[in-house]
Amino acid sequence: MAFRLAVLNDGRAVLLDAGLVDPPDDGGRSTDGATARWWDLGRLTDGRLADPMAAVSASDALDALTDDRGIPAGDPDGMVGLDDLGPPVPRPQKVFGIGMNYLAHIDEMGRAPSTAPVIFTKFPSCLVGPSADVRIVGDRTDYEVELVVVIGRTCRDLDESEVWDALAGVTVGQDISERALQNASAPAQFSLGKSYDTFGPIGPAVVSSDLLDEQYDLQLTCAVDGEIRQDGRTSHMIVGVKQLVAYLSAVCTLEAGDLVFTGTPAGVGDAQGRCLGVGQRIDSHIVGVGHMVNHCV
Ligand code: ZN
Repeated sequence: MAFRLAVLNDGRAVLLDAGLVDPPDDGGRSTDGATARWWDLGRLTDGRLADPMAAVSASDALDALTDDRGIPAGDPDGMVGLDDLGPPVPRPQKVFGIGMNYLAHIDEMGRAPSTAPVIFTKFPSCLVGPSADVRIVGDRTDYEVELVVVIGRTCRDLDESEVWDALAGVTVGQDISERALQNASAPAQFSLGKSYDTFGPIGPAVVSSDLLDEQYDLQLTCAVDGEIRQDGRTSHMIVGVKQLVAYLSAVCTLEAGDLVFTGTPAGVGDAQGRCLGVGQRIDSHIVGVGHMVNHCV
């Protein structure tokens, strides 16, 4: 499978080249000027895959439209920057979050490792695109860069060996979290504090597994106003992608477009007493997958 599936602000599903995978040469710290070529999926498929939720369920058809670098045949329909894109999966049925999935992050939060995966929900209404503004709530709104796994077909009771074939691909996500509400009750219930509107930037594209250099060892970073706060590798997850998706599929039937935020590495703001403030800029990057630039308002 080789494709990068994205969605324009007007709702059209498109394929992208690699132009928005990595930030511009300055590391994305200045005004973001990256662009990618796009191809209209509605035009390429006589309307069949114009809807992003139809497209995300059709990995084989997307793969058939592209070469092994994920590039469709023929001229592109135009150029886009991050500002032109919405969330690449706009209407998933389910969005799972995984808590405490990197040891150094468990340490910084002063918690003990769990014997079972820590699973919560981000309600899909929190999802926004890769350059959307994040609305700050109080003084404990925090960033969490994460690898987001995108389910590609209806599936249940997956064996770990079947998981990667069941995925459409992966994308970059920010599991924005309001720590006060997240921890307000006893026992704590994470879901609402992670589901304020705009608390789920994802994008810029769903990148299929064959376009990942090393699917188990991706570097992910988060910078706030240009200062690197998080710098981790997905190989350091406690529960990996195959185990997580198999675990979830033993409980819920998973559908194409369902998302799994797979946990964040160390360096979150709440552990350092410096959460996000209005006017700040969040740069999120997973090498070889994509980058996002979100501003706090
Ligand atoms: Zn998280």
